[in-house]
Amino acid sequence: MGTPSAGVSTPLLDILRRRIAAEGPISVAAYMGECLLHPEHGYYRSQEAIGRRGDFITAPEISQMFGELLGLWAADYWQRMGAPQNCYLVELGPGRGTLMHDALRAARALPPFRAAVTPVLVEASQRMVDMQRETLAGEKAEWCGTVASLPTDAPLIVLANEFLDALPVRQFQRGDDGAWHERCVGLSDDGKALQFMLDPRAMPLDDILPPALRGAPPGAIVESSPAMRAVASEISARLLTQGGVALFVDYGYDRPGLGETLQAVRHHAYADPLAEPGLADLTAHVDFAAFAASARKAGAAAYGPVGQGAFLEALGIRARAERLRANANASQRIDIDAALHRLTAPEAMGTLFKAIALTPPHAPEPAGFA
Ligand code: SAH
Repeated sequence: MGTPSAGVSTPLLDILRRRIAAEGPISVAAYMGECLLHPEHGYYRSQEAIGRRGDFITAPEISQMFGELLGLWAADYWQRMGAPQNCYLVELGPGRGTLMHDALRAARALPPFRAAVTPVLVEASQRMVDMQRETLAGEKAEWCGTVASLPTDAPLIVLANEFLDALPVRQFQRGDDGAWHERCVGLSDDGKALQFMLDPRAMPLDDILPPALRGAPPGAIVESSPAMRAVASEISARLLTQGGVALFVDYGYDRPGLGETLQAVRHHAYADPLAEPGLADLTAHVDFAAFAASARKAGAAAYGPVGQGAFLEALGIRARAERLRANANASQRIDIDAALHRLTAPEAMGTLFKAIALTPPHAPEPAGFA
């Protein structure tokens, strides 16, 4: 099953090889979890992930317009909620902290909102927390390590960009025997490299798969992210008891589909997901239908997904770009135009990236989804 990856030796590869030799193959989700968040050698704990010097660039790093518009979106929803006196502006997986920084700057346009909100950053990696503290120096922000430890005493306005794609996915493959099997990461015959293999146990998945996927032929792969579903239901439960709204922007698909989307990126190029554990970023496309279904099951209302391009256009990104252009020199204008194109054009991030919002039932509708 699968060809062994000609891996370079990384400290995490040695740890995983020993673990697999002792315990047997591990699930793709367990592998992804270790690669991203192993306490010492996990990617987000040890690498310069985001930015030009890192491995990939995200929307808030492309342009200040992204965080500013999300900040104004948050301020607008705060008003729609009836302008509560205290409220948390939460960001999940804030990376370098740029989105929160830009959102708070934009929020100053509405002083009562700025005065009402306390920023809270949910971050699993201490290295990232340090970076965020630097970016947000001078702001009175709070940090917590998990969604479950978010404060409970006031409404939550939650923002998350490229957070869900970092949550581990399980993969299942239809075997030649006609049954579904969990796809795992095991060792090559010589024990040196990692390779994909199937758990011999059959899983009765046909009962729970969306009907369109049930007749999938041998070799077909489906993905499912229990961690992503857990975020949808935990945030929904909080919105129901505390009030508020949540906005998730990420890349993914809006209809259940077949095929694996696990991908590795290093130095701005695709890499083999098994080759350099801990040194490459691992992500999977977000299954927005599954996300919305988990949120609705927990009682929340879900809006979208809509394409990032349409969402940002609805929030007024063109007018914002015009304002910035008015005060810019020629080379800055070129940058602003390029960023606008990259964030909104269908052939760039405009349609693959999508926005989805959650609110309590019967709550006001968030901007950008009409
Ligand atoms: N939102 C940022 C960064 C995206 S990268 C941006 O758009 O630039 C993913 C971020 O989520 C990183 O900060 C990573 O450390 C964090 N992260 C990944 N898994 C996490 C988890 N389970 N809990 C909390 N944070 C996590």
